[in-house]
Amino acid sequence: MIKKLYPNGRPKAFNVSYDDGVLQDIRFVGLLNKYNLKGTFNLNSHLMKTEFEWKHESGLVIKRLSENIASDLYSGHEIASHTLTHPYMDSLTENEIIHELQTDKDNLEMLFESEVKGFAVPFDFYSELMEECVKKCGFEYARISEESLSYTPSTDFYKLEVGIFHLDTNLDSYIDNFLSTNEELAFCQIAGHSYDLDTENMWDKIEAIFKKLSADNNILPMTTIQFVEYIKAMNLAEITENYIKNNSNISLWFSVNDRICEIKPNEVYYV
Ligand SMILES: [Zn+2]
Repeated sequence: MIKKLYPNGRPKAFNVSYDDGVLQDIRFVGLLNKYNLKGTFNLNSHLMKTEFEWKHESGLVIKRLSENIASDLYSGHEIASHTLTHPYMDSLTENEIIHELQTDKDNLEMLFESEVKGFAVPFDFYSELMEECVKKCGFEYARISEESLSYTPSTDFYKLEVGIFHLDTNLDSYIDNFLSTNEELAFCQIAGHSYDLDTENMWDKIEAIFKKLSADNNILPMTTIQFVEYIKAMNLAEITENYIKNNSNISLWFSVNDRICEIKPNEVYYV
């Protein structure tokens, strides 16, 4: 029997995808690092340059991180684009959308000195035109603002749903069911804004979840782009009763008759 696995033979993967690059990310990244977890941070480079702030309905003033703080903070995690200025994009022309995406990508690549391959939609508006622009700008995926509430890896990387938003009242059961699922390539993702952890007094709750997930050796922490690139590579594999051929340029992992095997790029493994 052949079962697809994540790198290092882990059956499941976990990711957090957090938006806006706010002050509370300092504490949040500290928690991720404490539990060896991986995050994707979706940033608006113009709002970092201007250290934008706004007043939340709770009265808390939400502050964007400066470029100086951000450039050190997110080391080891993924930086993705969230547009230049976080507009509601329903009335933007193609040129305006491209400007929001490409300029943000360029700014972030310069600041973090690494390629930015992911995009997360600001607010909840997404359209065919935006999807075309995301592709034109060379992004490998677009994370939209809808929940899948499932563990099944998406097949449409330009309409990548989040697993669950952390404010969803089903968060605990979503995590507990992930811990017990045997679904192939189960993927769990939590999304949100770290300032909610202050306004909703959720820091202890999120830490308890991180602690539980990090204690499970079946779970591999991954950034969103690591997950997307791995699933894309897995989708290229040729799997028959007699052999598995890895047609990608990264290693793929399987359980074959209960034996874990790593198949190197372009290698064939005979079952
Ligand atoms: Zn946002």
